[in-house]
Amino acid sequence: MKEILKALVDVIWKMPQGLLVTFKHMFKKPITLDYPKKKEPMAPRFKGLHYLERYEDGSERCVCCGLCAAACPADAVYMEPDENENGERLAKVYEINMLRCIFCGFCEEACPEEAIFLGREYEFATDSREGFIYSKDQLLVPHPRKESAFKRTIRRIRKIYGVEESR
Ligand code: SF4
Ligand code: SF4
Repeated sequence: MKEILKALVDVIWKMPQGLLVTFKHMFKKPITLDYPKKKEPMAPRFKGLHYLERYEDGSERCVCCGLCAAACPADAVYMEPDENENGERLAKVYEINMLRCIFCGFCEEACPEEAIFLGREYEFATDSREGFIYSKDQLLVPHPRKESAFKRTIRRIRKIYGVEESR
């Protein structure tokens, strides 16, 4: 009987305390975000999903030299070389395993052709291992790019001044 009374007093005493906490938070600004409708701006130096750049004429910049793979501390890059009809070297296979990748950006720094970049995309979750292995076709930027004249100008200015650009 004594225990029951004690439990009853506990409930009567603690319930308003709990409700008071709830009540106080009702008038505070929420710290959660209505994602994906709203998104926090990413840090300027954020490194997201990679992309392979092209020249203005649409040809691939990557010459499959392997320097990015050699620089990669996570052994995430795999490639096989090939030649095009003009005898120019390119990658027949170029894959990045995003499950291994630690998004350090060493591949970007190592590339002598300015072919590989880490973009700003971070929404690439998937439910299969295979879905995280990005092939060359997935990594190559589309040609021609779907962008407005304004965006193209900004991209070129960024390139001139060495500012990281998004895909
Ligand atoms: S960002 Fe780093 S870990 Fe990822 S592929 Fe490039 S070098 Fe490897
Ligand atoms: S992305 Fe750059 S470093 Fe990597 S293989 Fe191609 S040209 Fe070489």
